[in-house]
Amino acid sequence: SIRSSGLVLPPGSTIGILGGGQLARMTAIAAAQLGYKTHVYCPEPEPSAGHVSTHVTRSAYNSYADLDRFAQKVDVITYEFENIMCEPVEYLSRKVAVFPDPKILKTCQDRVLEKTFVQSCGIPTARFEPVDSLDMLRGAIKKLGYPSILKSNTMGYDGKGQVKIVEGMDLEQAWKTVTQNITSSIKAILEEYIEFESEGSVIVARGLDTNCEQVTYPLVQNKHKNHILRQTIAPSPLPDYIHQEAKEISKKISKSIHLVGILAIELFIVKDKQSGNYRLLVNELAPRPHNSGHWTIEGCATSQFEQLVRCICGLSLGCVDFMKRVPEQEYISQKLQPIIMNNLLGQDVDQWEKQIHNKSSHLHIYAKGDAKEGRKMGHVTILPGSN
Ligand code: ADP
Ligand code: MG
Repeated sequence: SIRSSGLVLPPGSTIGILGGGQLARMTAIAAAQLGYKTHVYCPEPEPSAGHVSTHVTRSAYNSYADLDRFAQKVDVITYEFENIMCEPVEYLSRKVAVFPDPKILKTCQDRVLEKTFVQSCGIPTARFEPVDSLDMLRGAIKKLGYPSILKSNTMGYDGKGQVKIVEGMDLEQAWKTVTQNITSSIKAILEEYIEFESEGSVIVARGLDTNCEQVTYPLVQNKHKNHILRQTIAPSPLPDYIHQEAKEISKKISKSIHLVGILAIELFIVKDKQSGNYRLLVNELAPRPHNSGHWTIEGCATSQFEQLVRCICGLSLGCVDFMKRVPEQEYISQKLQPIIMNNLLGQDVDQWEKQIHNKSSHLHIYAKGDAKEGRKMGHVTILPGSN
């Protein structure tokens, strides 16, 4: 890496962010609070993050002349989404330090690489088969059975590029749907269908200082509708041993992948019918702030966004305790109400006026133009009442 380990970027330095959506927006707000400038680079004409960042470059991700100018103006670079092309990020990393490292980006944007990496850490995932043709799909179904899930190997998000494979369905059509526009060397992946009890996630942060300090936010429960996150419950109402296991998983993964920055780990929580015991499977990794971590803005002493800024600027990491210093343990034993985060999708954003009058809720609006159906327009975090 270009910046040697332990080097601190002081406030006043400029953080470059690839992508201009709500994650970049909230990162820029956190950066500003610590006295950093931000420079957002994205192709959209009116990026959500543009309203709150010091500079904006509106250009294509593969416009190398603009990338050169961007690199000259920033002191460190991060990105807000993992479906960005790898080549421009690798190009930038030869000029300015990019965190998390582009190698991590490469692993996390390819489902086969990602699951292979997770398993190499000794952590279970759903069983899977790389699939590159209709014939290979038929072979993979023989191994994994029905139902199973066919996903595009790259470029998927919010459930896009996925089809549940059930007996008797038109496989040719499924193959076409999933692999259209996919140019990666392995086109798709077939995964066994997991009958999970719930879904969850943990966010881990790892610093740049010489001893690579690492912290994990509490395990949360995530509720999706149509594959889009609707609600996060923090902490997850699962027993203590599962919270411990999630922490162990986050430690192993962040260390093995040499993380500098923030990484979200999406998990399936499976309940064994006989024993009633829970176990965790890793579903996906996202090397960036995550929607399931928005509650940390009001809910934790240090938000995921401030934590990212601290990590990539070489500062020491912030405390992840719940606000009001309530021990995580008390939350987990369910003596206290959890913190709830609700996404405002599409027209939900029209509720802003009702939400603003609710004393225990904190409203966030992303200032995006069109409230298209399912589009993430904002969120509300509800802190437990003062009981
Ligand atoms: P995306 O990149 O779109 O978020 P995910 O792999 O996280 O892709 O899949 C989206 C959602 O689809 C998951 O949150 C989960 O609800 C469901 N899902 C994905 N994989 C499986 C699986 N193997 N078994 C059962 N459900 C799954
Ligand atoms: Mg996902």
